[in-house]
Amino acid sequence: MPLDNRLLLYCLVTVSAAMTLSIVVALQPNEQGGLKKWACAMGLESAAWLLFAIHNSIPLAVSVILANAIFSTAQAIKLVAVYEYQKFKCPVWQCVFPVVANLLTFGFLLHGSQDELIAAGSLIYAMQMLLLGVALLGDTRSRGNAWKLLFVSTSATVAVYLLRVIDVLADYRFSAWLQLMLPQQTLQNVTMLGVIGLSVTESMGFVLMLKQRSDRENLSLAMTDALTGTFNRRAFMERADKECFIAQRHGLPLALLMIDVDHFKKINDRYGHPAGDEVLAEIARLLTSRLRKEDTLGRYGGEEFCVLLPGTDEPGAVAIGEALRMAISTSPLTKGSPPVFATVSIGITVKPAADRMFRPDFSKLLAAADAALYQAKHDGRNRVVLLNSLRTPVN
Ligand code: GH3
Ligand code: MG
Ligand code: MG
Repeated sequence: MPLDNRLLLYCLVTVSAAMTLSIVVALQPNEQGGLKKWACAMGLESAAWLLFAIHNSIPLAVSVILANAIFSTAQAIKLVAVYEYQKFKCPVWQCVFPVVANLLTFGFLLHGSQDELIAAGSLIYAMQMLLLGVALLGDTRSRGNAWKLLFVSTSATVAVYLLRVIDVLADYRFSAWLQLMLPQQTLQNVTMLGVIGLSVTESMGFVLMLKQRSDRENLSLAMTDALTGTFNRRAFMERADKECFIAQRHGLPLALLMIDVDHFKKINDRYGHPAGDEVLAEIARLLTSRLRKEDTLGRYGGEEFCVLLPGTDEPGAVAIGEALRMAISTSPLTKGSPPVFATVSIGITVKPAADRMFRPDFSKLLAAADAALYQAKHDGRNRVVLLNSLRTPVN
């Protein structure tokens, strides 16, 4: 049963207006990911669909030229919103050219047939959606599920618009069978329904993409120490438990280095707290630059860092500990003049490679490294001390 086209247009008005309203209500005042622009585009779409729906009661120029110009502008704003989300600048031609092409085309086709208007509009909107899809493909940084939803919806919208063009251009009299299977009105209805559904999934995709990014940023903030940019204690402990488990499972050694700045209190007292902060940040930078990708560095406490070296045995861990100690003690740690120098003491313990006779228990490694660090301090600081790992038989 063919559906009333105008009814479908009113559905589009309602869906777009509801989307706009939902986004506006939930919008944060300082939002900067393109959501405001997306809401604006949805609002304009809603207005354009309304003009299409009431085209019989308004002047032709309004229902054809103005309505299509508004719709095309909405697509251009969506494109700008996607670029804003990606923190890129939208190439001006990509948003201006389709709108101008739209104005000229509909100015020219003002008295054209319904089929001509549908074909021309669908072609321009397919092109605009294609530009949106290309813009999405251009950002390779974060392709989560929401990105996929938006990308698939955008691609499907291109297909739907192209289907509408084909529908108009195809000569149905050519094949009685085709006409029977897919009467023109049915295809128009199906594509209209497609546009309604895709309008929802596109907006959901964009909103969820923003949410997923903000979740990622929040997680990263919750795991990072603000001063040094390393893992904070909680994140380090989580990672350490995992590394312990992996090392145990694969029978690999795992070295833990506990690094404490010597007489740091004196540095604070002598040079001031901001200089102390600078020292900590520089030490973290020096450590990071000398570690491998698979190593984990965390700020365990005030002036205390922990390093996990997967697959590193005792001689290897001591060699790395010595290299780190040397690097710190010989580097200027502040930019001021004269620069501040400091030394560190390092306590090391290693979970041996071996057999399945060891139970992965990070707290035991931590206690052993702490005892080694205490020994290093006791022996005069600015040194590396290794303490044999504690063996815990399986019960
Ligand atoms: P030791 O050689 O025995 O380790 O002596 P220490 O002075 O380094 O150790 P202590 O634990 O006595 O002092 C640590 C100091 O680190 C005290 C605290 O004010 C300072 N501190 C902790 N966190 C920060 C920070 O984020 N910034 C600065 N500037 N200082 C910090
Ligand atoms: Mg200290
Ligand atoms: Mg300390």
